[in-house]
Amino acid sequence: KLGDILGVEKTTEQHLKKGEAVSEFSMSKSIAEQRQYLPIYSVRDELLQVIRENQVVVVVGETGSGKTTQLTQYLHEDGYTINGLVGCTQPRRVAAMSVAKRVSEGMETELGDKVSYAIRFEDVTGPNTVIKYMTDGVLLRETLKDADLDKYRVIVMDEAHERSLNTDVLFGILKKVAAHRRDFKLIVTSATLNAQKFSNFFGSAPVFHIPGRTFPVNILHSKTPCEDYVEAAVKQAMTIHITSPPGDILIFMTGQEEIEAACYALAERIDRLTTSTDKAVPKLLILPIYSQLPADLQAKIFQKAEDGARKCIVATNIAETSLTVDGIYYVIDTGYGKTKVYNPKMGMDALQVFPVSRAAADQRAGRAGRTGPGTCYRLYTESAYLDEMLAAPVPEIQRTNLGNVVLLLKGLGWKMVEFPLDPSLAKMLLMGEQLQCLDEVLTIVSMLSVPSVFFRPRDRAEESDAAREKFFVPESDHLTLLNVYQQWKSNQYRGDWCNNHFLHVKGLRKAREVRSQLLDILKTLKIPVTSCGYDWDMVRKAVCSAYFNNAARLKGVGEYVNCRKGMPCHLHPSSALYGLGYTPEYVVYHELILTTKEYMQCVSAVEPQWLADLGPMFFSVK
Ligand code: ADP
Ligand code: MG
Repeated sequence: KLGDILGVEKTTEQHLKKGEAVSEFSMSKSIAEQRQYLPIYSVRDELLQVIRENQVVVVVGETGSGKTTQLTQYLHEDGYTINGLVGCTQPRRVAAMSVAKRVSEGMETELGDKVSYAIRFEDVTGPNTVIKYMTDGVLLRETLKDADLDKYRVIVMDEAHERSLNTDVLFGILKKVAAHRRDFKLIVTSATLNAQKFSNFFGSAPVFHIPGRTFPVNILHSKTPCEDYVEAAVKQAMTIHITSPPGDILIFMTGQEEIEAACYALAERIDRLTTSTDKAVPKLLILPIYSQLPADLQAKIFQKAEDGARKCIVATNIAETSLTVDGIYYVIDTGYGKTKVYNPKMGMDALQVFPVSRAAADQRAGRAGRTGPGTCYRLYTESAYLDEMLAAPVPEIQRTNLGNVVLLLKGLGWKMVEFPLDPSLAKMLLMGEQLQCLDEVLTIVSMLSVPSVFFRPRDRAEESDAAREKFFVPESDHLTLLNVYQQWKSNQYRGDWCNNHFLHVKGLRKAREVRSQLLDILKTLKIPVTSCGYDWDMVRKAVCSAYFNNAARLKGVGEYVNCRKGMPCHLHPSSALYGLGYTPEYVVYHELILTTKEYMQCVSAVEPQWLADLGPMFFSVK
């Protein structure tokens, strides 16, 4: 035996015995017939009764039990859509789209007719819609327009255990809605993990359990930590394919790049095997799934492989709970996933690769036991599982930038929430639009979103300082950044040019990438990107508008005090203003960093009149 057997809960009902039988079953039965075999179906009437008697209900059930696809339909069938919508929130956009499609097929209606979905930039809801799937972000935005959510009769908050930032914020808002509206129902669905917490939050709301139907999963850990998990996963999948009995394979990876690499390697190995042997190599249907994959390709994971072929799905954690594919007998878990974390240095949320939690690892393993007894291959050691992994994931609210949500909650500036940026940088962009210098501001925002591009090796400090000085724009570090970028651009974005000028080429390239992403968002919002040419006072004005909290007034030589909070702040020796000995009366700065003293990072001189014009609630001219 390779490893230990960690049994997963016992099976209850066993009317699905063999994998083959299930696949044929889903081929031959209509969606309507299949509905009756889902675990949630056996408790349909009790569940509806509990919902009738309570305003808030927490529903707990194994993944695949039918919560997402069935609950909304039951509510519809029970009459809740006569005077309002049944809304169902999803933390992921892929899930919102895919589930809406499935349910609309089941109800034999066009997507967008009775059943719709809404994600950012895309809403197919029509006049006949009764069931609407949406991302939690969409519902959060709707609460700004209609605080009582009057058009919804019921909201199902699905996948609450994922504790997405938006879902967590929605909890608070929906609790209020429930208090205001007696006709409103709220259903929170969750994996077992957090059910009690949710119930407590809603004043001991009843917790309804859907009986599970899972088969034991044999869990095998790696003996040693693996160095290249993509390669290891590919090898494992090939071994299963060649040596193990029928049953589909599900591989968990972190993101698109890896998934594509793994799919490519698998296809190539099957090819090589086919040409190097006379024996027939069984077919392997290789199917990637990640959030950026086009919807029609995503839908392919649900297709049955042709006779004698095996499916191998290579997925992100989207397949952990949001999407359930039947017929999986083998899970290969790399033990990693991507999580959004706030990077204060960049002022942006960024996706980073982390080891998954034990709860997530168990959930992944469980995917192998939905159709029959399965096997999970963990590409990490058992001690990594026991000693290194966190018990449960850290809720998003504790690890991401709250600026955008705070902004949203305040209902400030609408447009601003579209940008994956700190509010101050989003504000700068919008002011750039108003002042017709968006092209320039876009560059500055992108440059501020990456680590410093100035390269200052210790042994060549003087030389590099001199190189930097050549870029200085006397009154502004922001404009200096703009200057650097524009010069790089007019030198065809060349790498050797960067090296010659002591600039980090990687940083500049990253800035260029951020810039093009922001440009895409601006295009979607139909915001025109105009340039002010060299009228850089306009740019400084836009910069000024972004930093009300970070305005400072001259107090002594190189010494300033923050206008609002009175704390001291100093020009940093690397600043253009310091370098050129320019000490304007008023400045704004990007951020304050504390090293030997409080230094302002990235400073621009501003006119006091601008502060008064742009931030009248804070400043006035005496
Ligand atoms: P839960 O929300 O409890 O995890 P779901 O309602 O998402 O469960 O899924 C119930 C069943 O419907 C699962 O067996 C799943 O495989 C099946 N299913 C969901 N979407 C599709 C689809 N697009 N195609 C085929 N089967 C699907
Ligand atoms: Mg679900």
